[in-house]
Amino acid sequence: MYTIKGKTGDWELVIGLETHVEVHSQSKLFSGASADYNPAVKANTQVSFVDAAMPGMLPVLNRECVNQAVRFGLAINAEISRRSIFARKQYFYPDLPQGYQISQLPGVPPVVGRGYLEIIGDDGNPKKILIERAHLEQDAAKNKHDMSPTKSFVDLNRSGVALLEIVTFLDTKNSGHNSYITSPDEAEKYLRGVQEIVRALGVSNANMEEGSMRADVNVSVRPAGEKEFRNRTETKNMVSFKFIKNAIEFEAKRQIEIYESGGAVSQDTMRYDQNSGKTSVARSKEDALDYRYFPDPDLLPLVITDDEIEKIRAHLPELPAARRARYTSEFGLSEYDAARLTESADISKWFDVAMDGKKERAKLLANWIISELSAHPAHWSVTNTNHEHEPRQITPGDLRELVDMILAGDISGKIAKDIFIKMLDGETGTPREIAQRHNLKQNNDAGAIAAAVDSVLAANTAQVAEYKSGKLGMLGFFVGAVMKQTGGTANPKAVNEILKEKLK
Ligand code: ADP
Ligand code: MG
Repeated sequence: MYTIKGKTGDWELVIGLETHVEVHSQSKLFSGASADYNPAVKANTQVSFVDAAMPGMLPVLNRECVNQAVRFGLAINAEISRRSIFARKQYFYPDLPQGYQISQLPGVPPVVGRGYLEIIGDDGNPKKILIERAHLEQDAAKNKHDMSPTKSFVDLNRSGVALLEIVTFLDTKNSGHNSYITSPDEAEKYLRGVQEIVRALGVSNANMEEGSMRADVNVSVRPAGEKEFRNRTETKNMVSFKFIKNAIEFEAKRQIEIYESGGAVSQDTMRYDQNSGKTSVARSKEDALDYRYFPDPDLLPLVITDDEIEKIRAHLPELPAARRARYTSEFGLSEYDAARLTESADISKWFDVAMDGKKERAKLLANWIISELSAHPAHWSVTNTNHEHEPRQITPGDLRELVDMILAGDISGKIAKDIFIKMLDGETGTPREIAQRHNLKQNNDAGAIAAAVDSVLAANTAQVAEYKSGKLGMLGFFVGAVMKQTGGTANPKAVNEILKEKLK
């Protein structure tokens, strides 16, 4: 268990994350304007009357955003509310022309209810981080303070784009450590887990640098073993894994110092300074009451039917975690290989096609993909499986054939590498055709290999004597010499066996 040492003893951390991901959709949550607000788009060109809050304009819910939320909910095994409502959260800020944000009320069912996301905890075991809710809400516009010395500007392109806010749960009745985040590392793993899922689902590109994934970080500390939770602070709008981890650590230490010097931590909203790595109090935390939440009278309750949910469930892609489990349990791959192969959906799709369901291929294929193919991204793709493409593509069928030739003993790994390089160099034809064209095949003829071994041993009597006096490491030298003599064609396994036999 992660703890921080203080003057009075060990302190444990309690961490709650509110993660916002920008929902991928053609248009905004309540208007038909394009949801593409990237900086290349001219400011204030993708703004409907709804986004600009013109009086009398009525919001209309975009069902695709709802489907995206449901998709995420199903992926985290959450309860999907059959009926939920939207509410107005009132505050003033220049980037909020409505004067309120349409969100979902705390305390009443959000579109996605209680679920969980599994991470590998600090102790190395799987840990289910409970998620309290995920709800839909509007993003704000963007203030621009750096365009003029005396004026500020507002770009409304982002105004009204859908956000999914995903909130981790803290069970106050059960203060055990097994259901929430307790260290900076676990926070990162959880966030990467969220990112991986929403990307795999096509719900969001969840890119922290671009701001399409942001997190509010709630931290409190308590002496190791204490039952009650203490006051927490909230550091808002964090957009880097590194800063989030730094902020958690700094904030925990700050709170510990306050307690140890006899003070009390107040429920504040903090700001994090990237340059100093420090958090400082921005304002005292507002209560839900301060926002004067009330149900938005312009919107009907959001009703989702069982049918709709089942339709979405039927089209969910296989998620990376399920894929990893399949690779380790069905194909016998290591956790490491499985993790590498599921880093991108493209690599795992490619691997699945190349495997064609035959378990024996798994280990070799995984090795080839991880150490060779992934180093040459221009030479493979999931969609392009055409040798005539420029640069020459290596197809799943190519690598499958190559691996099958190795498994059958037709070629050695060394020859396979030569063929692979020829393919990278643009040579056409399948690996088998290339092997034939260049007469690249493995020599499995025991008689011929034995003859090569004999001549190598005869030419290196001094080394033979060394080996026999106990320097068994010399074997590699002989193997190399035999391989050289046979032009790299001899079956290395046979060379090893015959050498050992003759050196007895
Ligand atoms: P709000 O909406 O006011 O920010 P919530 O009650 O929705 O507050 O909680 C926000 C996040 O803070 C949740 O992830 C929750 O688990 C977390 N949290 C609540 N209490 C604590 C605490 N004492 N220490 C750490 N995190 C907490
Ligand atoms: Mg909050």
